[in-house]
Amino acid sequence: MYVASVEKVREYKITEEGAHKVKVKYLLHKGVGAGRLQLRLFTIDVGGYTPLERHAHEHEVFMLRGRALVMGGEKEVVANPRDVIFIPSHEKHQFKNIGDEPVEFLCTKETTGETPKVLKKKG
Ligand SMILES: [Zn+2]
Repeated sequence: MYVASVEKVREYKITEEGAHKVKVKYLLHKGVGAGRLQLRLFTIDVGGYTPLERHAHEHEVFMLRGRALVMGGEKEVVANPRDVIFIPSHEKHQFKNIGDEPVEFLCTKETTGETPKVLKKKG
């Protein structure tokens, strides 16, 4: 078994194209023996958003804090704390902070997942 306090996990700024004011902590990953799934904690600061992307791996998401506009496929929904969101394989998706406090959510990713393909915005 592996146990860690989230406070002690290093936080990285997401610098990839299309990301704005997004940080991530890799809570569970290959390095601690989790061979199949990564568990990540994302923080999107006020006014921030994740890249619009599409990829083969799925995401299972649990909202912890804040108010997010979540785009999945052609749908957009507002997600609040304790909402769960499933992003199927190959569905384009994006998370935007539309509230006045940071958005925090847990998000899984298969360890073997490919690098996400960032989609360019139209216009
Ligand atoms: Zn993704």
